[in-house]
Amino acid sequence: MTIEDVYRKFDEIGCCSFATPDGHGGVEARIAHFFAYGDEGLYLRTMDVKPFYRQLKESGRLAVCGERTEAKVVFDEDNLPLFKPGYQMRVSGEVRELSMVEVEAKAAHDRNFNVAVHDIAKYPETRVLVLHRFHGELYDYDYAMARRDHKLYRERFAFGGDTFEEPGLRITDSCIACGTCLEGCSFKAIVPGEPYTILGERCDECGNCYHVCPAGAVEGKGR
Ligand code: SF4
Ligand code: SF4
Repeated sequence: MTIEDVYRKFDEIGCCSFATPDGHGGVEARIAHFFAYGDEGLYLRTMDVKPFYRQLKESGRLAVCGERTEAKVVFDEDNLPLFKPGYQMRVSGEVRELSMVEVEAKAAHDRNFNVAVHDIAKYPETRVLVLHRFHGELYDYDYAMARRDHKLYRERFAFGGDTFEEPGLRITDSCIACGTCLEGCSFKAIVPGEPYTILGERCDECGNCYHVCPAGAVEGKGR
C-alpha cells in the first residue's frame, strides 16, 4: 500500500481510536482523525493543553485503529454475529511535532494544511504532529463470502524505515502432511503440500490448525 492508500482507508472510516502510553504505566485512547498525508507520513493535530499532546511528546508513540463496515452487526437465532463486509485499519509507530514554519510551508500546496492553519488561527494552542515511522495492517473481511471465495484479505506495510511481520501462522518442516488442519480452517488459508503451507493474507490466526496438529508443526505467535 502507498501512504495515500493508508490515508484514504482511514479517511473513509472517519474518526478512529488514537492510543498513547499515559506516562504512568497505562494506556489511554481517544477518538481523533488524520487530517492529511505526505511523504513523511500521516498528520494529526491536537492542542498542547491536552493530556494527548503531553503523552505524544513524552512517549513519541502512537497507535491508531478503526473499522468501516457496511452495516451494524446483527445476531442470528443462536446469538452468533453476522458481519457485513468491511475492513479494519491499524498503524503503530513514532510521532514528531512540526514547527509552524513547516505547517505553513505545507499549507502552500496542500489544502488540508490550509485547514490546519485556519484551525491554529482560531485555536492558537493547536499543534501538528506526524506519524512518520510506523507499521500497520489492512484487515479486509467478508465473513459470509458474499463477494469472494474466502473470508479475509490482510495486507501489512511499513513506512519511514519501520518493519513488519507477515500476517498468519506458519507451518514448519515437522508437518507430516496428514491434512487434519485443512478441515478446521474455515478461512481457506491452508494449502496442501509437503509441508502444508498457510496463506498469511487469508489467515485469521484463529489457532485451530495449531490446536489440532498432531505433529506440533504449526508455530504460534503468542508465546
Ligand atoms: S495438521 Fe499438522 S502435520 Fe497435519 S497437515 Fe496440518 S500442519 Fe501438517
Ligand atoms: S490459524 Fe486459523 S485461519 Fe490461520 S491457517 Fe490456522 S486454522 Fe486457518
